[in-house]
Amino acid sequence: ERLLGPEEMERYIEELFPPDPDLRRVLEGIRERGMPEISVPTGYGRLLTLLVAMSGASQVLEIGALGGYSGICLARGLAPDGRLTSLELLPEYAELAAAHLEAAGFGGRTEYRVGDAGDSLEALKAEGRRFGFFFIDADKGGYPRYLDAAIELAEPGAVIVADNTLLRGRVADPARTGPSVLAMREFNRRLAEDPRLAGTLLPAYDGLAVMRVKG
Ligand code: SAM
Repeated sequence: ERLLGPEEMERYIEELFPPDPDLRRVLEGIRERGMPEISVPTGYGRLLTLLVAMSGASQVLEIGALGGYSGICLARGLAPDGRLTSLELLPEYAELAAAHLEAAGFGGRTEYRVGDAGDSLEALKAEGRRFGFFFIDADKGGYPRYLDAAIELAEPGAVIVADNTLLRGRVADPARTGPSVLAMREFNRRLAEDPRLAGTLLPAYDGLAVMRVKG
C-alpha cells in the first residue's frame, strides 16, 4: 500500500478550504511583488483563528508579518474590541500587510511596528503592554529571545504559538549544528523545561509549538 505524503495531504486540505478573497489578495500581492511565498498554509491559518478565539485573547502579538496572511487569520479570531499588534523587520512588507488587513476590514484594529522584533519587544515592555496570545514566525535565530520577551509580556494564561520549530527535522538530527538549529533546539528545550510554561511540540507542518504561560 502506498500512503500519500505530507505535500499531497496539504493539497487535499487546501482543496477543502480554498482561500477566500481576502486571503487570496494576500497571496497574489506577495507573488506580484516577488516576495517569499512562505505564508502559513490554509489549514494552519484556520487553526490560528480557532486558537485565538478559544483563548479569548483581546490583545494579540504577531512576530513576523510578511504580507498579512497570518495577521488576517489571527485578527479573525479576535473579539470585536480586540487588537492585533504585528512586528515586521521590512517596511515594505509591513506596509503591504497593513493594506491587506485594512482591505479585510481590520484596519482600525491593527498596529504594525517596523524594525527588528527584538527592539520592538523592548519598546512594548517599556510601554507596559500585555498580550493574551502570541504568534512567533520570524527569523529562527531570534526564537529564544522572542520566547523570553513573550513570557514577560504575557497576561496570566496567555497562549504562545510558534512556527518552524522542527526546521524540516533538522533540530532532531545531532549532526546539524547551524545557528538556526541551535537556536531552535534552545527554544524547544525551554518550552519543555521552563516551569512557567506548559506546552507541546507537534510534528505538524514544519513543527508547531503550542504553549500556555501558567497563571
Ligand atoms: N507570519 C507570516 C504569515 O504566515 O503570513 C509569515 C512570516 S515570514 C515566515 C517571516 C517574516 O519575519 C518575514 O516577513 C521577515 O521579514 C520577518 N522578519 C525576519 N527577521 C525579523 C526580525 N529580526 N524582526 C522582525 N521581523 C523579522
